[in-house]
Amino acid sequence: MSRTIFEKIIDGEINAEIVFENSYVIAFKDINPQAPVHILVIPRKKASRMSDLKEWNADDAGNFFKAVSLVASELGLDQDGYRVVINNGTNGGQEVEYLHAHILAGRQMKWPPG
Ligand code: 5GP
Repeated sequence: MSRTIFEKIIDGEINAEIVFENSYVIAFKDINPQAPVHILVIPRKKASRMSDLKEWNADDAGNFFKAVSLVASELGLDQDGYRVVINNGTNGGQEVEYLHAHILAGRQMKWPPG
């Protein structure tokens, strides 16, 4: 199977505006932002989608979610708040087949989502 655009970003083959990195994740600006702040957080360890995470050990899964929280905090989003979205599969609206969490912030989010 061909590599996704996010694997190419991890490997430095495609540029991205990286805002945070640690040994578990890379976080970068979404190319087509849906809010004033729109960051994608991807694990360095490959998973195609959220459905695959049940195969991960709790440490790896926890480190991914902890990093999402850390990124939001480092970007100063804790006080005003933010939304985290993980699209999974066709009905979830997932376009890139590599697990990623969207962090959306900088405006009032609505519910229910579209
Ligand atoms: P999904 O619909 O799979 O949950 O979200 C994929 C996201 O990746 C979309 O919000 C899209 O704008 C973003 N995206 C797609 N290609 C690129 C790219 O090459 N660079 C960056 N920074 N974001 C991308």
